[in-house]
Amino acid sequence: MEATNNKIDSIKRRAPRRHKSDKFPIRVHEIMLKDAFVGADFPLRAVKWMRFGIGFFSDVVLMMKSSIHLDNHKGNDQLVKAYRRAIDNFHHYTERHRYVCAGVCLHTIGDFYAHSNYIDLYSLYASQRKLPMDKELLPVFSEMMGNSDFLAFAKSQGELRTGTYGLISDLIEKIFKTKPKPGSHTLMNLDSNKSINGGKPFAPDATFTKHEAGVYLAYTECRNLLQHLL
Ligand SMILES: [Zn+2]
Repeated sequence: MEATNNKIDSIKRRAPRRHKSDKFPIRVHEIMLKDAFVGADFPLRAVKWMRFGIGFFSDVVLMMKSSIHLDNHKGNDQLVKAYRRAIDNFHHYTERHRYVCAGVCLHTIGDFYAHSNYIDLYSLYASQRKLPMDKELLPVFSEMMGNSDFLAFAKSQGELRTGTYGLISDLIEKIFKTKPKPGSHTLMNLDSNKSINGGKPFAPDATFTKHEAGVYLAYTECRNLLQHLL
């Protein structure tokens, strides 16, 4: 494991330093993957290629693909379908040793938490149902996507959705620096603690931010997949 970590560290040093403020930064994805690999039994070359898939390949080569970053998705059904597809594809690609594609699937899992309103909705749901609000007890979406009570709650709040991104209105907002529209990626994303929504506390008296909740859940789900728990 020591040798594996050293190898991962050296890959990390060579990784691109590009940091787009309006995406879950590449390094967040990569570090999540590194942590999630601890205890997993994939060969070292798989680690290397998945790292390329989750980071550079997804964010640079596939930058504008909404199906990868889950931008512009609307409704419980569409989000459940997209999340399930990412899980199924991860298994499909790892079985065939196509690790770059498997890494892209993990990127989508991460972006679900950073780009959707799942964490906002779950915060409201948990406070109404008096459920635990500790970060380590928050459920990943694979646990909740079949929970009819949660899905009905989401429906009552306007359903699960992700922010709009790459539309003409978003371009106008960027060029003319107009106020971001409700439902836009700019207003909704939890990409970092510096983003408008990501820096807010998970709940009124929580000691962690929505971004930190998103990173934790994305890491947990990546670990579930890498360790064959899902
Ligand atoms: Zn992304």
